[in-house]
Amino acid sequence: MKLDELINGIQTLGITGHVRPDGDCIGSTLGLYNYVKDNYPEIDVTLYLEEAKDGFSYMSRIDEIVHEMREEDKTAVKDLFIICDCSTLDRIEPFAEVYEHAKKRACIDHHVSNLGDFADVNEVKPEASSTCEVLYELLDESRISKAVAECLYTGIVHDTGVFKYSSTSGRTMAIAGKLMDLGIDFNDIIDNSFYKKSYVQNQILGRALLESVLFYDGKCIFSCIDEPTMKFYNVTGKDLGGVIEQLRLTDGVEVAIFLYQTGADEFKVSLRSKKYIDCATIAMAQGGGGHKRAAGFTAYGKAVEIVNRISDSLSLQFKEYEKTSKEGTLD
Ligand code: 5GP
Ligand code: MN
Repeated sequence: MKLDELINGIQTLGITGHVRPDGDCIGSTLGLYNYVKDNYPEIDVTLYLEEAKDGFSYMSRIDEIVHEMREEDKTAVKDLFIICDCSTLDRIEPFAEVYEHAKKRACIDHHVSNLGDFADVNEVKPEASSTCEVLYELLDESRISKAVAECLYTGIVHDTGVFKYSSTSGRTMAIAGKLMDLGIDFNDIIDNSFYKKSYVQNQILGRALLESVLFYDGKCIFSCIDEPTMKFYNVTGKDLGGVIEQLRLTDGVEVAIFLYQTGADEFKVSLRSKKYIDCATIAMAQGGGGHKRAAGFTAYGKAVEIVNRISDSLSLQFKEYEKTSKEGTLD
């Protein structure tokens, strides 16, 4: 499929991504928005997305994003609504009503947990590093501006952890290379949107690392930041982005679990693995989703109860892996 076929003849287009947008979500939605603005000036396009963390202000037209639903938005998008980087409809919750009113709906995504069945047109490629990579393939290369390239490059950088996760392929690198050829400032994009941390972000990262606990023979690491601690440092969930990655990097660890409190007895859970634990399966069993090596869900109860809830499926996966690797050694 090409985007051109999808949007041919439409007058109104709505775009959204998932709640708590990350780099790939903002990169793909804003990349698509900029591409349509650049190449289809006759289309009335609106991008609906929650506010992302700081650090993305270099992206063109970021100030045009609609962060909160207005009454007139509910019926504004009549022709086509495109959801990017989102595997289930419950994750577009703030803007679900706009979606409901559109005649045609499309989804562009790369989550393995996306069953590809909720929209009319589903472009879901689990093998792709990022939604930005999937989107790139739908665009006409010769009509990609530097502004669009900055957005797409950002998404690829974020979802590959700067080109190092197992989802990174030769094709990912080739696309990144083509985007670089458009003159983007890739050093600044990587530093400012990915690595840069504010003082309090560093402090809370330190706190989460300090209080982390190893279990399952050092193969699992767990940490949790509760609401009082978040209030003390005056941070929100957006400030906790790098914590799970640092936990995952701990020597000997296969899987990292990080929780932060989002309400009374409510937590956002992130899972990351290195080589063999399938995080998506665990997250999906808890009503969430994601990828093999990075997934998440929202959970209710006490932090310890939540970890206990997933420990059975974790230990099952560890046992299966140990069994197959032992069988492998006998050969
Ligand atoms: P993170 O841990 O950074 O929030 O998310 C890791 C991956 O899992 C992302 O690709 C994200 O889209 C997915 N994910 C995180 N939380 C949820 C959730 O509650 N539901 C679903 N379906 N996917 C999630
Ligand atoms: Mn993504």
